[in-house]
Parts: sequence; structure tokens; C-alpha cells
Amino acid sequence: MGAPDLVLADRLFRDLAEATGAEPGITRDSYGAGEQAAHAIVRREAEAFGLETEADAAGNLYMTLPGEDRGRPAVFIGSHLDSVPHGGNYDGAAGVVAGLEAAATLRRCGRTPPQDVTVMAIRAEESTWFPVSYVGSRAALGRLPAEALDVARADSGRSLERHMADCGLDPAAVRAGRPLLRAERLAAFVEVHIEQGPRLIGDGVPIGLVTGIRGSFRYRKARCLGRYGHSGAVPRGYRQDAVVGAASLVCALDALWRDLEAEGHDLSLTVGQFATDPREHAFSKVAGEVGFAVDARSLGKPTLALVRDRLQELCAEISAQRDVRFELGELSDSEPAPLSAALLERFESLAEDQGIRTLRMPSGAGHDAAVFANAGVPSAMLFIRNAHGSHNPAEAMDLADFGEACRLLAGLIGDGWS
Ligand SMILES: [Zn+2]
Repeated sequence: MGAPDLVLADRLFRDLAEATGAEPGITRDSYGAGEQAAHAIVRREAEAFGLETEADAAGNLYMTLPGEDRGRPAVFIGSHLDSVPHGGNYDGAAGVVAGLEAAATLRRCGRTPPQDVTVMAIRAEESTWFPVSYVGSRAALGRLPAEALDVARADSGRSLERHMADCGLDPAAVRAGRPLLRAERLAAFVEVHIEQGPRLIGDGVPIGLVTGIRGSFRYRKARCLGRYGHSGAVPRGYRQDAVVGAASLVCALDALWRDLEAEGHDLSLTVGQFATDPREHAFSKVAGEVGFAVDARSLGKPTLALVRDRLQELCAEISAQRDVRFELGELSDSEPAPLSAALLERFESLAEDQGIRTLRMPSGAGHDAAVFANAGVPSAMLFIRNAHGSHNPAEAMDLADFGEACRLLAGLIGDGWS
């Protein structure tokens, strides 16, 4: 089979950037003008080279290259088309464009795949707009709770239901919760995405093969409480210093991460927010309160449970030592999603045949592929090397690296998967 020529991809990336440009970067708001524009562009291109297109009640778009045996479950390639405000052109869109480029490559070579290949443009993955995860993919699989339709969009204050209706979609059908897409119709779900961390750049490898998507638990509004006091007047032994208490916890968590990693656990632990109260704090005051957040992620459910237990124990130990107390507040969590080892090995062998260097790595961020994997669909993810992280206009993916992902996809769909 010929290599992807990237003519289609190049044009699509340019059209998307132009239509949804919002200096700096691009904005494709979920169920708003930006996402609508992106869907229209992608649909037009798919129809231009003969794919069958169809949208479901939630507005997810399916673009199908018919296969030889139309009764066989299809290989799905998909990602989201929405973005964060002033985001980059590739987070999400790269996965949809890669699917189209792979389908176009088969078309150009006159190849009919053994089974249908459906490129899926998924709605509303970025939870900056609606504080609900995976709206489009969960709606497709009948896994979106009805209450999600009542959630307000962060900027407009209008409900998801309203926004869907304004886009000409059918929120009542989504609320009914029936699957719009039957999981049995999928032989596999593959999501291509730019890497959002620095590993592929650091290791000089163009493609990451994702081993699994980490689950998480978060305490978004934890507090360490002590007692405010005069910095000159309160001796050390009398202090109930919330900064020292909270800082001790942060250091203990970092040591816990180091130790668990050394034992072979997959883990990341982050305290991304840490602040004294600006209404109360002062340079000459012992702090009586520190607000902080804890974000733990792992491929292993037992690891997450272990960290949660250790966190409680550490809070108790530090409280006793420092005469402070911890209130961790509300917990939110998500399940780890195991990806298909068979698909990963298939991509690994395709990469070997095609001379493409790859690296196995977990995904620390959540993706729609997690929804498909947790619904029992064999799922895979490919990461493309990318500088400067994602969700910002500086995302920098090399089109040549993108082409390697398209070659791997074309190899998979050309031979078929069951
Ligand atoms: Zn994304």
C-alpha cells in the first residue's frame, strides 16, 4: 500500500485553524459555533472522497469507508473535535484527521478494507465547557446520566440540553439513555492523540503506544487547619502552623510516590493548588489555614486504593505531630481503562515492519478511548510526538510524525481486525 500523502490532512488542519481561529490559538466550544464549524468542515471533506456520513442524536459524526463484508463489526477510529478556549489546533482534531487520512490512503490505492472503517468525530470531550466528562462518547454508548443534560455550560450558563437543541440535535433521545451506537458494532476503537507530556520528545521517538489510561482520585478542595498566631510572639512548640502541616503532607506524598514507583507501581501524584487564605494571611502571621488539592492517577485500581489509605494515615500522623487537622473534602474519581494488549501488539508489529520507532507508555490524561474500553470494546491509543504540551496555541506536532500514525492506522484497517 502507498504511504499517506498528507494532502488531505494538511488542508484539513489549515481549514480547521482558519475557521476556528481565536487569537491566540483556536476555540472550538462544545456544542457551540467552534465545534459546529469543525464538524461541518470534516463532514464536507469526508463526503468529497466518498465516505458515508451520518450523525447521531448527540451530534457525534460517523464517516464510513465501506468494507467488503458490511455485516462484520467495523474498525472505529475516533477522537474529539472540540477544544479548550484558545487551545491548539491538534488536541482532538489530529485523531479525526488521522482516521480520514488513513481512509483516504486506502481509497487512493484502490483498496477496499475487509470490514467497514468508521471515522468518528466525537462531541464535547473537553470538560472546560460542561463540567461533565466524555459527553459525546458516553451519549453514543448510552452511558451518559440523564442529569448531565441539565448541567450549565461554564461561559453561557445555558444547559447542555439547550445547547444541543440549538445545534439542531435531539437532546430528548440522549436523555432517554439508549445507546445511539451499539458496542457490538465495533471490532475495535482506535484513538490517535498528540502526546500531552514531554516523553516522546525527550526520547526522540515519534509514536507512543499507549498501554492503558490511568484512573484517578481527586480531592479538589482539601484544607489543613491550624491556628493563626503572631510570628514573633508564638514560640515553636505552641504553634499550630497550617503551612508546616500541609507542606509536611506534600513532602510525605512525594516520598510515597518515590517508594511506590520503586516497587513497580504506576503512579503520578500532584498537589497542583496550595494556598494560604489571602483574606487572613500576612507575612508576620503563623498561618491558620492552607487550601490544597490532591490529584492521584494510576493504571492500577489497587494502587489508587493504597494511596488513598496512606493519605489518610499521613494526615493522621501529621495532625498528631503538628497539632493541626486535615479536612480532605469531597472525593471525585475515575476508573482506570485497560487498553487491548492484542491491538497494542498488532501496532507494535506494524511499526516494526514499517520501520517506525515506538515507545510503550501509559496515558496520564483521560480520553474518549477510556469510555469505549470500559464498555468492553477492544481499544487502542497512539500518541504522536508533540512539543509544549497541549491545550495551548504552542502545540507543535510535526506533520511527518503525524504521517507515521496514519501509516500505522492504514496498516491496521487495510488488513482488518477481528
Ligand atoms: Zn484531547
